[in-house]
Amino acid sequence: MLRLRAGGRPAMFPFVRRDTLMGTEVHQCVHGIHAHRVAEKAVGEIKRLESLWSPFLEGSEVVALSHSAGLRAVPLSPETVCVLLFAIEMNALCAGAFDVSLGPVIRLWREAGRRGSPPAPGAIAAALGLKGSAEVEVSSAGGGYLPRKGQGIDLGGIGKGFAADRVREIYLDAGIRSAFVNLGGNVFVVGRKPDGRRWNVGIRDPRGGRDECVGYAQAEDCSAVTSGAYERFFECAGIRYHHIIDPATGRPSESDVAGVTVFAQSSMAADALSTAAFVLGVEKGMELIESREGARAVFIDAQGRIRLTRGLEKDFHPVFGPVGEAATSPGAAEASSSRG
Ligand code: AMP
Ligand code: MG
Repeated sequence: MLRLRAGGRPAMFPFVRRDTLMGTEVHQCVHGIHAHRVAEKAVGEIKRLESLWSPFLEGSEVVALSHSAGLRAVPLSPETVCVLLFAIEMNALCAGAFDVSLGPVIRLWREAGRRGSPPAPGAIAAALGLKGSAEVEVSSAGGGYLPRKGQGIDLGGIGKGFAADRVREIYLDAGIRSAFVNLGGNVFVVGRKPDGRRWNVGIRDPRGGRDECVGYAQAEDCSAVTSGAYERFFECAGIRYHHIIDPATGRPSESDVAGVTVFAQSSMAADALSTAAFVLGVEKGMELIESREGARAVFIDAQGRIRLTRGLEKDFHPVFGPVGEAATSPGAAEASSSRG
């Protein structure tokens, strides 16, 4: 929508829309004519992907895969094939830290969260025995098969990234040149702000509240995806159990990362990388990100120290004190990388 400021200078006001989709809050802020229609189309697309990948919807392809495990192959849509092939490639690339075949383990922890107590060690060991990214059979012709009964996949660590990439395509096809979107911690920005400046993507303080940032990164045309222990968790007997599972143990990762935000062109890649980097820990996680062309990251460790991968120094601005020191002040940013 184009409106005139008091002084007669044209100013663009964004169309803003909030929805709950894929189990998380989706916030679209879109500049341009027909922005409301484009945002509506984006919501339709996210709902469509959710219907393919939800572990809760009977008709989803993820549910069909686990129901048919050890029995038969199931037909898969091109989107599911694409996301699974990429996930399998990522698994090999990050020494198994990212693993969509953790479905049975993740289901166990989801039930534990509802109950409020952790699963029995025997149940974890049994579910972990069903892990096996290399066993997942995906054909580019559109079929998928899990060879052992009980196996299942979980796309919670990558699906929102794919959806964010699809939303960006919808925007670009519709001629949108300026926007930011937060899809449950998966932020992406299109172009620059209408005033020509870059977007400020806030990096949330893992120890602070929703609006507290340790700094912000200036960005244009890129994705910023965050994985943090503070995003989803339950507590039992004073112990916090968060939602990112270490595939080596089948338990919430105990790495030294409190939060990591990965910047990359592809939101799907940034999504998988952020989950993997969280599990790997600061040192190995930094190595993984630096090995990927075009990827950069901000790590915040358990002590609140900030670490940046090569090339991010010039775009990252700590809110309080120099990089390397703990920082807890609230930050001003258009697009926070935190969930919701
Ligand atoms: P994210 O917030 O993107 O780091 O993804 C976390 C979600 O991904 C969890 O809620 C699970 O659904 C799933 N997940 C947890 N641990 C892993 C893992 N090691 N590899 C792949 N997906 C995971
Ligand atoms: Mg992820």
